[in-house]
Amino acid sequence: MPELPEVETIRRQLAPHLTGRTIARAQILDPRWTRPDSPGAVEAELRGSEVERLERAGKYLVWVLSSERYLLMHLRMTGTLLFDPQAAPPHTRVLLDLDDGHRLVYVDPRRFGTGHLLHGALARGAYLDARLGIEPLTPEFTTEHLRALGRGRAAPVKAFVLDQKRIAGVGNIYADEALFRAGIHPLRPAGRLTGADWARLREGIEEALSAGIEAKGASIDDFRHIDGARGSFQDCFLVHRRAGLPCPRCGTTIRKIVVGGRGTYVCERCQPKPRARPGSRPRAGAGTARS
Ligand SMILES: [Zn+2]
Repeated sequence: MPELPEVETIRRQLAPHLTGRTIARAQILDPRWTRPDSPGAVEAELRGSEVERLERAGKYLVWVLSSERYLLMHLRMTGTLLFDPQAAPPHTRVLLDLDDGHRLVYVDPRRFGTGHLLHGALARGAYLDARLGIEPLTPEFTTEHLRALGRGRAAPVKAFVLDQKRIAGVGNIYADEALFRAGIHPLRPAGRLTGADWARLREGIEEALSAGIEAKGASIDDFRHIDGARGSFQDCFLVHRRAGLPCPRCGTTIRKIVVGGRGTYVCERCQPKPRARPGSRPRAGAGTARS
């Protein structure tokens, strides 16, 4: 699933092609994409709209359109945006023709991606505020802010990091990479992290996300650039998907465990296991891995 660095990569690649252009024609082939709005209504709103800016919020690609309209795209599991593909790719859901003759195609085999059209900055703010917490790589992403969010939380720190309503944009790949960089075991209860832990976690998240953006995203499944090329961050993973391989820092074999239903990769020497409290039962290890 595309996470913050993958969506940011797409935003940076698309922005020069879209900024200042007008959408000449929109064809939405899948009513699920705009649900509960009708595809015809959204097509009519998009037609003739100018793209003023392309922004990102968490994993959302935010189209800032003329007349205070906003198109909020979420790629979910398998969504891809292709600029001027040679032929119509299979699983095409949306076609956007620009006034300069170029075409943007949204492809999504599993059809979980969405496109919501909103009117006005207030509606956009309300929509995103209801879904997203603090944005990493911004000045408000501070150790103190993170620590306050985690206070009293018994959930494993990995589940905390994955919760979009607390930290926006971090998914399974970058959570594993950030926790490894921070030297924090994914099963440690968020509320029991020390101030020093939170400082290292903040740094780990920033470093992992920045490295992902630098490598133009990770293509472990469907993620592709707008020209169909693959990102390269999968070649830079320190622990994610490296079960059985040596830890790059200490050589200990990396283990795969399950945290909150997600496949999780950890070096238990660099990331010491939480000590069980007397009388407490092991928690949050149950469930089936999704990846
Ligand atoms: Zn290690």
